[in-house]
Amino acid sequence: MKIYFKPLTYITIFAFALFSCSSDDSSSDDSGGNDDDDDDVAVTELHAAFAAFNLDAVTAILSDDGTEVYIETTGFPDHTSIYWETDNALYMDEPGVSKTTQDTYIGGGQGEAASFTVDATPNLTGSTVTTQLNTIGIAVSGASIFNDQEGMGDLDQAAGSLDWAGAHKGPGVYHYHLEPTPITNDDESLVGILLDGVFIYGRQCSSTGTYPTDLDASGGHTSTTQYTDGAEEYHYHIVNEEYPAGNYAYDPAYVLFAGPFQGY
Ligand SMILES: [Zn+2]
Ligand SMILES: [Zn+2]
Repeated sequence: MKIYFKPLTYITIFAFALFSCSSDDSSSDDSGGNDDDDDDVAVTELHAAFAAFNLDAVTAILSDDGTEVYIETTGFPDHTSIYWETDNALYMDEPGVSKTTQDTYIGGGQGEAASFTVDATPNLTGSTVTTQLNTIGIAVSGASIFNDQEGMGDLDQAAGSLDWAGAHKGPGVYHYHLEPTPITNDDESLVGILLDGVFIYGRQCSSTGTYPTDLDASGGHTSTTQYTDGAEEYHYHIVNEEYPAGNYAYDPAYVLFAGPFQGY
């Protein structure tokens, strides 16, 4: 499906998208709820799931006491997109996508890097925390994960600028809003880790080989995963519920993560 805007509408919509994305350029996040150190549980090695990340972009380091993991990324995804510069090997023309601005590209402008620290063992006993604009997690590709909002509004206003990975870029970081199909496409693949230290997987779960039916309000549940060696662990899934993003060039659309966080 191709959507073409009249020039004035186009400018209006994307000027707003540009503005709303301009708060996305922070390179770090200090809103993590890791200040309740009382009941931090130490681990002896980095979670096996980190091996699935794009190591050209993502670095994960376990703290000496084993209670926290520091994660940083260049923000550069390891897959094709219209948001790469046209002379980049990963550039792909996507005729149905209306870029946020013509001169924005991954690695250009205000930088893509992000970093945060999470509990090595997420604290699931506290209250839930709503997601914010800006980076809410890092995908295995190395790029940022955002929630289901664009600026102060509904995602659909910006859906026309989302590429085949369900991602786009303002002046700030390249980021996913929808199921990132280069990473997971209706399967059980690991998608990334969120700011609360909880991993998120595709729409299916390796514990059953199909769509989980016991998800909580955040899309989370406790079961084995392909990275837990038979142990049960709380994790999120992309909820298998189609998102009616009318302006999205691809079909169907699934929101990556709307929240709230359970792990703070
Ligand atoms: Zn966005
Ligand atoms: Zn699961």
